[in-house]
Amino acid sequence: MTSPLKPGSARTVAVIGGGAVGVATASFLLREGHDVVLVERGGLGEGASFGNAGVLAPSSVVPMSMPGTLRKVPGYLVDPLGPLSIRWRYLPALAPWLARFVKSGTRERVQAQARALKPLLDDSFSAWLPLVRHAGNEALIRREGFLAVYRSEADFAGDALGYQLRRANDIPYEVLRGPELWAFEPAISRDYTIGALFRQCGHTINPNRLVRTVADAFQRDGGRLIQARALGFAVEGGRLRGIETDAGLIPAQAAVVACGAHSRPLAAGLGDEVPLDTERGYHVLIADPEALPARPILDASAKFVSTPMETGLRMAGTVEFAGLEAPPDWKRAAHLLTLGRRLFPGLAPHHPEARVSRWMGFRPSMPDSLPVIGRASACADVVYAFGHGHVGLASAARTGMAVADLIAGRPPALDLAPFAATRF
Ligand SMILES: Cc1cc2nc3c(=O)[nH]c(=O)nc-3n(C[C@H](O)[C@H](O)[C@H](O)COP(=O)(O)OP(=O)(O)OC[C@H]3O[C@@H](n4cnc5c(N)ncnc54)[C@H](O)[C@@H]3O)c2cc1C
Repeated sequence: MTSPLKPGSARTVAVIGGGAVGVATASFLLREGHDVVLVERGGLGEGASFGNAGVLAPSSVVPMSMPGTLRKVPGYLVDPLGPLSIRWRYLPALAPWLARFVKSGTRERVQAQARALKPLLDDSFSAWLPLVRHAGNEALIRREGFLAVYRSEADFAGDALGYQLRRANDIPYEVLRGPELWAFEPAISRDYTIGALFRQCGHTINPNRLVRTVADAFQRDGGRLIQARALGFAVEGGRLRGIETDAGLIPAQAAVVACGAHSRPLAAGLGDEVPLDTERGYHVLIADPEALPARPILDASAKFVSTPMETGLRMAGTVEFAGLEAPPDWKRAAHLLTLGRRLFPGLAPHHPEARVSRWMGFRPSMPDSLPVIGRASACADVVYAFGHGHVGLASAARTGMAVADLIAGRPPALDLAPFAATRF
């Protein structure tokens, strides 16, 4: 944080949502001397923040919608192991979001998006570390790098613009080919012949425990936790009086909306119709795997990440457009297991059910791959912090620092203009 609070400027702040973003934000606000109440309707860190791939990657500045993405969609959709699926019944509801997604994928726009994401992701480690260190669990974060692997030079060349964006944003990487790649990461199949290694990246060995550990420290330090579902805001004369919840009014002078994919109705209540939808993702986790990489590996062709977790080997990924209500399609998770065995031939061809767990979660996704961080239109006491899509774990703590700046009335060290709720 840039400077301490002015005397007398501490407030009662309600942070709605106990995922990575909400818990990190609540922790930074508490450290500044505010009276902070975390409002969570379920379990802490059990939303999208539970089952993600755990990657903390400054290299993730490449947006999801890129020039040429649309051309690849039909191929993705017909491949049963492909990275994308759409429940056709959901298409009419999704259409406006998809139109914006396509529109945001021009060369000029992706350059601007990558530039905006860079400072949010660059500080993944320096922002998370004080929180985990204070919580006494620095070992939850490792910095062993992040490796993207390809089956052919043609696949690698297909991602050329992504690497151009990284170079333009000073994100270093090394290219490893053939024996050099296999020596560096012996667990992977020899069918993968080329890799890009991002040494400055890392991962957490348990995203859910990361969130819970930081939340425990928050409560030990005097932060309050209320289990309730936020329904709206009590605003009088433009100033916030409190949060309306299913457990009654929680008095607060400032609030943060950090409800991930569920943030849209709360923002709408404050006059901001944000195009937030969800890219549902899945994981499978093999406990006691026969093969384990030393660091997260992105299969860049199949678009999933395999991460060595403290609980086993997690394969996470896929994008499924089906909204917040449809039940999971566990075939998507089964496909990840098939793809994982293809990437790591040392894995057994079958695993007993008891050793494999499956999960589905809701990425909070904006069509331009940028989160919403900034003040609400109808009430400047409410700050948004949601919509982090594929990079919410990596950018959660840095987001929390920016929100603390806004609540304190300091100019944020980060340029928040690209993240405004009103940008569409
Ligand atoms: C398969 C997969 C892999 C991923 N891999 C990575 C990765 O490697 N690295 C990375 O950085 N990101 C990754 N992500 C993205 C990342 O998980 C999300 O961006 C991030 O977890 C979002 O955090 P959040 O706190 O905004 O949301 P969430 O973790 O979903 O938390 C929101 C919380 O708000 C609560 N809530 C909702 N509505 C209300 C309400 N009305 N009142 C009270 N509480 C409410 C929910 O119960 C929930 O606990 C991945 C996602 C998926 C699905």
